[in-house]
Amino acid sequence: MRNRLSLDREGLAAAIACEDAAFEEALREEAYRVKVETVGPDVYLRGLIEISNICAKNCLYCGIRRDIRCQRYELSEEEVLATARAAARRRFGSVVIQGGERTDAAFIRKITRLLKEIKSIDTGDDPPLGVTLSLGEQSREVYEEWFDAGAHRYLLRIESSNPDLYRRIHPADHSYDRRLQALYDLKEIGYQAGTGAMIGMPFQTAEDMADDLLFYKEFDAPMVGMGPYNPHPETPLTLTGAPYPSAERRFALGLKMIALLRLLMPDINIAAATALEVLDPRGREKGLLSGANVIMPNITPEEQMVKYNLYDRKTLLRECPSSVDPSKRDTHICRNCVFPFCSLGEGLSGQKIVIGYGRWGDSKHFRRE
Ligand code: SAH
Ligand code: SF4
Repeated sequence: MRNRLSLDREGLAAAIACEDAAFEEALREEAYRVKVETVGPDVYLRGLIEISNICAKNCLYCGIRRDIRCQRYELSEEEVLATARAAARRRFGSVVIQGGERTDAAFIRKITRLLKEIKSIDTGDDPPLGVTLSLGEQSREVYEEWFDAGAHRYLLRIESSNPDLYRRIHPADHSYDRRLQALYDLKEIGYQAGTGAMIGMPFQTAEDMADDLLFYKEFDAPMVGMGPYNPHPETPLTLTGAPYPSAERRFALGLKMIALLRLLMPDINIAAATALEVLDPRGREKGLLSGANVIMPNITPEEQMVKYNLYDRKTLLRECPSSVDPSKRDTHICRNCVFPFCSLGEGLSGQKIVIGYGRWGDSKHFRRE
């Protein structure tokens, strides 16, 4: 496969544009093989805590953008801590705190306090919980404050590495250059700075997606979390009526981008995004079998989770035994299955995927640096 595939811009764009099912399957198998050979068969867990859907930004594709009318929430410090403790009990190894972008002092201090508290949670014989933040663009000082308080990874997607496309999917006061600067700030401070882009957006070409992959390589990202674009019915981007690939195509593209990235950057961490799960009930498992090695099970308390509607996520609730029978719940995490709101637990206990319990699962790439 690798002999036939050239990983330059032209080769990547051709592979992305090719819709031949046999080619796509061979690519995924090759990427899985490279993953096992390079970083091993383990999948690392990051318990995802969606702290708030209040956002000062207005991205044109996002269902919790400032101007959308929806019920807003913010988890209390105790709720975040209870959820993090539950993650520690389940030996998740690390958590991600994600939310809308806010730069007010009260929010910033709250995150700083939470980081210190989370780092002191008793995890038994395991290392303290690892913490990744995904709270948008902040000043360098704030990134430093959070790093000093214990965060060591930060996820900030570039959304699209093409500045023109970036401008089309954001309002005029959102800046590509500022986003890029924030990524470099994170890296300089010492974070493992993860990035990513949406896949299958309106106006996006195969060349744009090839450039996204080359951007990750140039930025030398130790981790990447990218996922299919899923339209939200009330966002300006959806309301333009601009076409985008079918759900089936976006799903196939999502897996293919993971596979191509694994071939391009064999030793990094690649997340199988929740957006895959929305398009296919075993989406994230298929992501792992296409070369991803990180999963972010959503452990946000259910009552609030349903309000974090970046896009329509109703399908995520369909198969969760704990949503049907609350007695099966251990705090917020389904007891039957490691993975809330999906049937992934069963799938993963199959032969091919090993769960790296109780470990941070830093990328081999970052450790090598
Ligand atoms: N506010 C922070 C983190 C929360 S949003 C930030 O923007 O960085 C997390 C991610 O959700 C964004 O990076 C974006 O890529 C993704 N997202 C938002 N709307 C989406 C949509 N309609 N389809 C797919 N992903 C979406
Ligand atoms: Fe806010 Fe992030 Fe949504 Fe943009 S993508 S509106 S920053 S939550």
